[in-house]
Formats: sequence, structure tokens, C-alpha cells
Amino acid sequence: MKFDTNCLHAGYRPGSGEPRNIPIVQSTTFRYETSEDMGRLFDLEAEGYFYTRLQNPTSDAVAARLCALEGGSAAMLLSSGQAATFFAVFNIASAGDHIVCSSAVYGGTYNLFAVTMRRMGIQFTFVDPDCSEEELNAAFRPETKALFGETIANPALTVLDIEKFARAAHAHGVPLIVDNTFATPALCRPFEWGADIVTHSTSKYLDGHAAALGGAIVDSGRFDWEAHADKFPGLTTPDDSYHGVTYTKKFGPGGAYITKAVVQLMRDFGSTPAPMNAWLLGMGMETLPLRMARHCANGQGVAQWLQKHEKVAWVRYAGLPGDRYYELAQKYLPHGCCGVVSFGVKGGRAAAERFMAGLELASIATHVADAKTCVLHPASATHRQMNDAELAAAGVSPDLVRLSVGLEDLGDLIADLSQALDQV
Ligand SMILES: *Cc1c(COP(=O)(O)O)cnc(C)c1O
Repeated sequence: MKFDTNCLHAGYRPGSGEPRNIPIVQSTTFRYETSEDMGRLFDLEAEGYFYTRLQNPTSDAVAARLCALEGGSAAMLLSSGQAATFFAVFNIASAGDHIVCSSAVYGGTYNLFAVTMRRMGIQFTFVDPDCSEEELNAAFRPETKALFGETIANPALTVLDIEKFARAAHAHGVPLIVDNTFATPALCRPFEWGADIVTHSTSKYLDGHAAALGGAIVDSGRFDWEAHADKFPGLTTPDDSYHGVTYTKKFGPGGAYITKAVVQLMRDFGSTPAPMNAWLLGMGMETLPLRMARHCANGQGVAQWLQKHEKVAWVRYAGLPGDRYYELAQKYLPHGCCGVVSFGVKGGRAAAERFMAGLELASIATHVADAKTCVLHPASATHRQMNDAELAAAGVSPDLVRLSVGLEDLGDLIADLSQALDQV
């Protein structure tokens, strides 16, 4: 089936007389006839549900849909994007290990890696995503277990050269993990360019309506863990906490990574999505291609309009010819660059604040990437405690406005931006 068809049908095929929509299985537990039946589940000898912390039919159907959209071999849902990022890395790295990561990543990812996971004994090296292959290769160590980057970085809006990153990861015998949140599989499928594992904050475009927090991990099934068995003992040697199962042997290259993350990390950390939230995500994905096409058209339209406005100092959007990432976007994002645009208002912080206050349609919110246009002025919100020098060091100029263009009529959006800029 083609992508658009999979958005509606992958992961769930009702039998005769069964619900047309994915059912919401709002139950923590599942009943069995005998203790023996249940024992086989605990031994991973039979497939089935026993406790929603590990697996739930609603979540699994929605995960299977996303898996089909990314072109993967296995997938799992989590309660948030943060949980997905953590599980994706912690599934293959522990104390004493090292990860190489693009410096252009979501702030929450940076904090999770540089502060919290560092406290767990995992070291991180952050590299400029635009660095040469030589510089990228130099960041690897013998104990490196993965390379991490974002397709379209939030909020920097850099476009990742996925092939360059995949080459470097594979040259060092480790997988490339790509956070594909802003692109979604509608705009880019990182597995087609050599990525091995994809993560998502489904709270953004995949859900699409700012209704439910969620995360996901998808495995391509193409990374050969056995070929680098000494680096990934958690996958290639017996797990004593599961009666000596060896994930790569029992579940193969396509199932080992996700099975381990579910039965080990979900068992122990419990970052499980509510069935209702999984269902909302599945519903959102049904219209993903339609919404992404509109987000891209509106984002492109707004970026082009802003670029010509006399009160706008600069615009960053990879779909604009002349943007630093235009060529990479043409290659990796041929159908569009999503709806997130950042720009500067002439006159700095005060002008940006006046502009924000003047907006009527676009709402001021910390969220991005959903159906309704929202806007954030980092210097007076998420980065409020910093002075102008500190902001510059963080790559956030005082005049920077991050605009997440929604699905409204483009003329209405431009009219709102126009009247707000008039007030500056
Ligand atoms: C929002 C976001 C996250 C974190 O996801 P939550 O669902 O908020 O936990 C991770 N990566 C990117 C790129 C994001 O935009």
C-alpha cells in the first residue's frame, strides 16, 4: 500500500462485525484460563497481553501504523517524546559508554543527555551538524554506542545531512538514531537515507492537534547487532532478568532492539502511554499527509511573505532559496519543510515583544507543530532568565520569534502578522 493508504489502514484490519475504528482497550490487565498460559507470556514463549504497562492492543495497533509509515521492522509507543529519546539511547548504552550527538537538538534532549544521562555515567560529545566528515569521525571513541541527530532541528531549523551522519555511524559500527519529529514520515523517512532507528515526539505533527503527549521509537531492523556483538552485549548475550533470553537470537535483527526496550525498559521505567492517548495519535495520523502538505504550503507562504517585509530583519526557513539549508532540504525534504519558521523583528527584543502582543489569531504558546498557529518569543519565555550576551551564546537572538504555522487560511495568517508588524 502507498503511504496515504497506510495512514488510514496500517496496523488495524477489523474482522467481520468488529469496530471500524481502532478500539480503545482501556484495561490494565488481561484474563487467562490457566497460570501456565500466563507463564508462557512471562517467559516470552507466547505472544499476548497481560499488563498494559508492557503492551496494550490499542498502543500496538498505532505503533504498527507508525512502523509502516517509517518503513521499519518494529515500533513502540511511549508516554512522551522525552521518554522515547531516553529509551532509544539507554537501550544500547550504559555507564561508561559514550554517544555522539548533533549540537542542534531540542533543548529537552540536550538537557536529558548533557545533565541527566551524564549523571548516569554516559558521556556525550556534541558536534556541529555541519562539521566535516573528518571532524565528525574524530568525535567517536571505542566506547561510543550511537550517533544522534534531528531531521529538522527544533528550534534551530537546521536540516541534518542524514547520509553523512549514517556513514560516520556505520564506519564506527554503531547505529544512527534520528529524531524525526518535525519532518514526520510524510516529509522524510530517515531509513531511506541510512538511519537505523527513528524517534518521535508524537505530541507534535503526528498527533497534530495538541491533544495528547506521546513518543515513539521505530527500528529499521537493518543494523547488524551481531556483527558488533562486543559493543552491544545487552542485545547479543543472555538477559538474566528474562531467563537467559538473547534478544538477537530469539527475535532476529528486526525485533531484538524494540523487544528489549519493551520487556526490559518499559517493564522497569513504565513510561507507558494511556490507551486513549495512543488512540488520539492513531486518529491524528489518518490525516497526516493532508495536514503536512498544508503546513508546508502555509509555512513556505508565510516565510516568503516575511522575507519581503521591511520590519523583518531575517528569516530562517529551509524552503527559502538562499537559506543555509536550502540544498539539504531539496534533497531530504522535497515535499516541504514543515510549518515552523523563525525570524527576527527589526528593533530587537522590545520590537519582538510589541509584535507578539499585537497578534490576534496566532496564540502565544510553548507548543509547536499543531493545527493552530502558535508563536513563541524565546527571549521572554523559555530563555527569559538570560541576558542578551547569554542569549547569543545559546544561539537565540533577542529578536527571534518562532512561528509554528498551522492549518488556517494563509490570507488570514498573513493579515494577522501584517497588522501585528504594523504596531511595531
Ligand atoms: C517536543 C520535542 C521532544 C520532546 O517531546 P515531548 O513529547 O514534549 O516529551 C523531542 N524532540 C523534539 C524534536 C521535540 O520537538
